[in-house]
Parts: sequence; structure tokens; C-alpha cells
Amino acid sequence: MSDFDAVVIGAGNAGLTAATTLQRAGLRTLLVERHSIPGGCATSFRRGRYEFEVALHQLSGIGSEGQEFSLRGLFEKLGVIDRLDFVQEHDLYRAVVPGEYDVTLPADWAAAVDVLSDAFPGNRERVERFFQLVKDTTIWQMAAMRGLPPEQVDPTYFRQGLRPLSEVLDDHFDDPRLKSVLATYWTYAGQPPSRLAFQDLALMLFAYLEFKPWHIRGGSQAMSSAFLDSFLAAGGEVRFNTAVEAILTERGRAVGVRLDDGQEVSARDVISNASLPLTYAMLGDAVPTTVRNDLATRRIGVSGFVLHMGLDATPAELGFTTSTTFVNADLDEDRLHASWHTLEPARGICVSSYDVAPIGFAPSGATHVSLMTLQYADAWDKVSPGEYARAKFAYAETLLDRVEVITPGIRDAIEEVDVATPMTMSRYLGHPGGAIYGYDQDRTENWLFRNSERETHVPGLHLAGSWVATGGFQPTLESGHRVARRLLRHQAA
Ligand SMILES: Cc1cc2nc3c(=O)[nH]c(=O)nc-3n(C[C@H](O)[C@H](O)[C@H](O)COP(=O)(O)OP(=O)(O)OC[C@H]3O[C@@H](n4cnc5c(N)ncnc54)[C@H](O)[C@@H]3O)c2cc1C
Repeated sequence: MSDFDAVVIGAGNAGLTAATTLQRAGLRTLLVERHSIPGGCATSFRRGRYEFEVALHQLSGIGSEGQEFSLRGLFEKLGVIDRLDFVQEHDLYRAVVPGEYDVTLPADWAAAVDVLSDAFPGNRERVERFFQLVKDTTIWQMAAMRGLPPEQVDPTYFRQGLRPLSEVLDDHFDDPRLKSVLATYWTYAGQPPSRLAFQDLALMLFAYLEFKPWHIRGGSQAMSSAFLDSFLAAGGEVRFNTAVEAILTERGRAVGVRLDDGQEVSARDVISNASLPLTYAMLGDAVPTTVRNDLATRRIGVSGFVLHMGLDATPAELGFTTSTTFVNADLDEDRLHASWHTLEPARGICVSSYDVAPIGFAPSGATHVSLMTLQYADAWDKVSPGEYARAKFAYAETLLDRVEVITPGIRDAIEEVDVATPMTMSRYLGHPGGAIYGYDQDRTENWLFRNSERETHVPGLHLAGSWVATGGFQPTLESGHRVARRLLRHQAA
């Protein structure tokens, strides 16, 4: 008999939901995490009087009372809903390009139309038509994802879904500023409008406009810890500060893992929440050639650079009116995307002010703010270890220069700072390039063309998380649960 029914490698979002689903269904499950805490990206850490949120900017999938969305049901099933207190953001975002626009979009379809037609007169009907297409494309995409046969899916989805976002915006609008405001969420997928599939932006706009953006009191760490508690309460076992260094196989089937202290653990099934390159490296010679060839065609995705700040002033004193603000240098999204491979001054930042609707991380009268730009790890290739600390703080200054546009004098309020680069992400997550969404989320990775979650080519091995599903909180939480349910059905058969 195996030591465990299942071993889960990694306690990121997907690892946690997978392990909790399995253990609560009665499978003896071991969760192995190389870090000392659960969550992967979904964690927080303390500096002085402040707790700093690592990753969560806007949680989708929650929905409001009376209009609940999928994550509420998942949290309930996994026994964590009563442990979580959600904090609603009432605006989608404030988008600023100095000299071009400064627009705050409410998280409501009709109010967003009003704001956009006031800011860009003469466009009301066009915005309404665009929003209708966003709704139609998303509803049919969700139906197709759930398995509706293609012949029953409205052709609008197939005609529009995979077109570049920029083309669909060009069909609707002439004003480049309006297109820029509507495309703002492209950075959440890491692909500029010229490369992002329209359906990906449509899904994000729909998720946040229809079901609202949320934070969690106590940050994403509160959610990760709640999952861990539920897993342990159901009898699960966890090993922290322990990395899996090999996936063991017999006659081509995964049969367990070897830990970094040399211990071998047998299991009927293995779920990996580690990156795909690492997972397959851990299989050694057992990797089929088809998988090797496929992996060689894929591009490691983007990471991020984050300046976390504890500020000794209230959001109002600092001039923050929204929880989420995007500040870009100009309207050139391709140029911004190209700059993520360099250390040129940050051209675009996402500003999260966690005390406009407080999540409880800053003491009273103070504010926790993070400034983030996406960035590829290769931007740091030419920086020697001796120059690294100076270079990261010099780069952080460029994010501060950018945020000064909306909060002049913010530097005077700084009490605590910490900086994370793609190197930091790589060190904490163990992912190549410190990638936070897995592979580059371009159209070749679309779920219509690939299903890595199902196709491991190694019986007994299952994959969950951002490297096989879409990156981001909601998709990875759902990925772990989905993979675990499939495994349960399989073990029961
Ligand atoms: C700064 C930042 C900002 C972000 N902003 C947002 C946002 O606003 N909205 C959003 O939706 N998403 C955001 N994301 C992305 C989102 O957080 C991630 O896509 C998601 O959390 C990834 O979840 P995952 O399940 O793939 O696991 P990951 O978080 O990638 O965790 C994988 C886990 O596996 C562990 N592991 C790896 N190898 C091994 C091994 N050999 N043995 C044991 N353990 C191992 C790692 O230590 C890690 O804990 C952000 C991410 C970051 C870092």
C-alpha cells in the first residue's frame, strides 16, 4: 500500500485547493512546500508596523450578495468561507496618462458608460456596443469552456474571441485615449492589445464589472492560511521548508516523490503545482519526447517588480481616491510591453492602495501601498550580484517618479519599504524567470488550443496552477479544485 493516496507538490493557490479537495474527500494527502508558509504568490510579510500584501490586487470570482460567483461556492465547499471577510472595491480603476486622460471607471456597467461618455463625448453608443460585445463574447466563451458543443455556441464568439484586442477596439472607436482606457487591464494578462486575444480582456472586464473587484481582510495570506487549516482539520499532512526534488516513476507511471532530505514517499497519484519546466525536470528520463518538444516551443512568462511601502499618512492625505490606479507614460502599449525587458525608467505602474477600503495591514492613520510594473527576468541579466541592491533601489525610484503624478510628495510619507524583483519571485516560487502567470499568456497558450492540465502524458501525474491554466488568483484556485475532482473520479473508477 502507498504511504499516501496523493502527494501535492507546492502550496500555491492550486496546490492548496487541490490538497484540501482531496483530503476532505477522504484521500490521505501529503502537501509539500519548499517555503515556510502556504500560498506561493498568495502571501504577505511584515515590515515594522505594516503587513505587506505580496500579490493580490483585485480578486475576481467572488460576486456580491444575491449575485454570487464561482469562488464563493468553492470557498464554501472547501470549508473556508466563514473564515474570510471580503472587502469590495467600488471602482474598477483610475487610469491616468498625464496630458491625455485621468478617468475613474466605476465597477458598474451603466455608470461606466456614463463616465466614459462624459470623458469622451460622442461615444455613448459605441461604448454600449462594445460592452455588449464584451458580455456576449464572455458568456459564450464560458459556455464553450464548460463543454457546450461548438455548433451550439454563438458564432460571434468564434468570429471575435481570438482577434487581437487592438483590432476590436479599432472597429468600435476612433479616439486612441478611449481605447487606451478600455484596454487598461491588458497588463493583468501581460500581453499588449496588439497581441492579447479580445476574449481575454472581455473576460476580465466582465468579471470585474459584473461581479466586482474584491480584497480579502488580512490579505491573500488569510485565504491561504484558511485553506491550510481546513486541510489539516480534515487530517491532511504538510511538510514546509521541504522541496520535492524528484517524481518517482515505475514503468512510466508516477508512483511517488523524493524529498530534498532524501526521503521517498509513495503515492497513488502526484499533483504538481510547481512550474512545468521544473515538474518535467523532476521526472528525468521519464519525460516523453512529445512533451519535451512541446515545452521547447513555449515562452517563459513575465514576472514583476514591486515596491511595497508603509506610508505614515492616510489615503485621503496622500490623494488616493481609488484602491487601484494605473499610471502610464503614454498611449503606446507596445512600447510599454517592450520596456519590460529593460531597466529603463518604469513606463507604466499599477498602484494598489490597500487602505482606501482597508484590509487591515496598516495601523490607523497610515497606509499600505504597492507600486508594481511587470518585468521579465532578462531585464536583470546584465546586473552583477555586487550591483544588484543599488540597481533595484534605483529602479524603484523610477516607480516613485511615476506615482508622484497622482500623489505629489509621497516620498515624504515613506516609513517602511521593501522591493521585490523578478529575482525575488524566482527565489521564493522556484519558477523559471520568476514567472507569475506561467507561460506568456498569448493566443498560442489559449485554452482552445492547449489543455496541459489534462495532457501530462505520464499516468499518475496531474498538473495544476498557472503553468497549465490561466495565471491569476481565480483561475489557479479553480484549477487545483478541478484537477483534484478529476483525480477523485479517476480513483473511484
Ligand atoms: C506581485 C504579484 C502580483 C500579482 N497580482 C495579481 C492580481 O492582482 N490578480 C491576480 O489574479 N493575480 C495576480 N498575480 C498572479 C497570481 O498571484 C498567480 O498567478 C497565482 O497566485 C499562482 O498560483 P499557482 O497555484 O500557480 O501557484 P504559485 O503561487 O506559483 O505557487 C507555487 C508553489 O509551489 C512551490 N514549489 C515550487 N517548486 C516546488 C518543489 N519542488 N517542492 C515543493 N514546493 C514547490 C512554491 O514554493 C510555491 O509555493 C500576482 C502575482 C504576483 C507575484
